[in-house]
Amino acid sequence: DPLAEPIHDAVLGRAAEYGDAIALIDGVNGTTVDYAQLDRSHRRIAAALAEAGLRKGDVLALHSPNTVAYPSVFYGATRAGATVTTVHPLATAEEFARQLRDCGARWIVTVSPLLEAARRAAELAPGVREIFVCDRADGHLSVLDMLGSTAPEPDIAIDPSNDVAVLPYSSGTTGVPKGVMLTHRSIGTNLVQLQPVLAMKPGDRILAVLPFFHIYGLTALMNAPLRNGATVVVLSRFELGTFLGAIEKHRITGLYIAPPIVLALAKHPAVARYDLSSLEYLICSAAPLDAELARACSARLGLPPIAQAYGMTELSPATHAVPLRETAPPPGTVGRLLPSTELRLVSLDDPAQSVGPGEKGEMAIRGPQVMKGYLGRPEATAEMIDADGWLRTGDVGRVDEDGWLYVVDRVKELIKYKGFQVAPAELEALLLTHESIADAAVIGVYDEDGTELPKAYVVRQPGAEALTGDEVMAFVAARVAPYKKIRRVSFIAGVPRAASGKILRRELREREAGERGSAV
Ligand code: ATP
Ligand code: MG
Repeated sequence: DPLAEPIHDAVLGRAAEYGDAIALIDGVNGTTVDYAQLDRSHRRIAAALAEAGLRKGDVLALHSPNTVAYPSVFYGATRAGATVTTVHPLATAEEFARQLRDCGARWIVTVSPLLEAARRAAELAPGVREIFVCDRADGHLSVLDMLGSTAPEPDIAIDPSNDVAVLPYSSGTTGVPKGVMLTHRSIGTNLVQLQPVLAMKPGDRILAVLPFFHIYGLTALMNAPLRNGATVVVLSRFELGTFLGAIEKHRITGLYIAPPIVLALAKHPAVARYDLSSLEYLICSAAPLDAELARACSARLGLPPIAQAYGMTELSPATHAVPLRETAPPPGTVGRLLPSTELRLVSLDDPAQSVGPGEKGEMAIRGPQVMKGYLGRPEATAEMIDADGWLRTGDVGRVDEDGWLYVVDRVKELIKYKGFQVAPAELEALLLTHESIADAAVIGVYDEDGTELPKAYVVRQPGAEALTGDEVMAFVAARVAPYKKIRRVSFIAGVPRAASGKILRRELREREAGERGSAV
């Protein structure tokens, strides 16, 4: 029963049985780890960490891009009783130190190229006792002497319902990143709930291009494939040519991606130069995906409709998914409610009321995947989860008569134009259908009278330098109700995005403030 097991047993319980089947391949240099090695190495790492002094409940910071060693360290640490806090590999020393202090981390595991950054962060976080480096050398996993450890494997009693396995920090898209406490049971349960879109099997080849440190990658690209005997091809960052080359070379069968990659697959000329015929399905999550863009992408690749899923870090992460076997899901849906999960749509006008099918409301969720809470922030936790266990997502959604959910946008991102609500995601999707627009982001800005209006930041396609702001505004105006019109346009070189693919509107707002300041 995976629900009653710690996550390392839920995922690696059959690793020894899978034996010499390949668990992980480095997508760039080709080094491999088979299941038997993965089983052994994570146990050796657990033993060595315990020998080094790690005790149950200690927080270990895993500071690494995707590598073939990442899962061994992750499950080794949880087996030793640690809570793993995953760290963005590009975090500055100050950001990293803030996370280390916030969670009182005692141990860091990093990779050689990031060692200096980890050292500087540790100097600013007095609780850290030791830093280990995990790199592969000579085709063998070498967590700094750990694999040679002859220490006995620790036998740590874990209570899956209470002990925190992972402590990811929320993306910080809307505010200060907070440590999200996810128990062994909540992430293990979500793996089972997600079976309709994580139905992997031996022989499947999954491309891990989204980061393991984010809950989406951790679940879909690490826990799920390794639990099912599939092969994970690991890339440490997204670069289109390398990504497409890896799909071709490794005959990838399934892609779990975010909207910016769907955009590239739908529009980029380079896609035509690769043989992507091994692909069987595409799953997209983490940010709003336009139905037309999704259709264009799957049509270009000759694949069934892209299956979306909805989730957030605080939900371990998912609550809705479009099952893979669904041949004709309605365009734009993020899926149906997963088993043992409840959804309530809270009226945007009166929070005491719920709304019914067809109407928009703020999504509230109850289920076994709801986080234990934010670490050390009881008030923030209470704001998020009420006494009856309902978590307020901050997202606006609508459910149709057949139970399909559509996510409109975040409550906080809705632009209020003269009393009307405008969803940036809808306008961004429309802008992307323009052939001269490579990428776009929309935020609310204020005019001289204090009226909030939609402003687009637009990236031109190469060769489309002639595109003007007036043309962009006219294009949108011809296709939306008048209150949704774009009323300001700026051209930029690239849209700022988080590692999970989300638009960092915060950065655009700062930019906007800067432009206004300099104009005065
Ligand atoms: P923070 O909470 O720190 O501001 P964040 O909310 O971006 O950051 P995540 O937990 O990574 O951090 O993202 C969850 C959010 O992603 C959801 O609340 C929702 O807004 C968005 N999201 C996830 N899946 C989808 C989807 N399929 N369609 C639209 N939006 C989605
Ligand atoms: Mg959030």
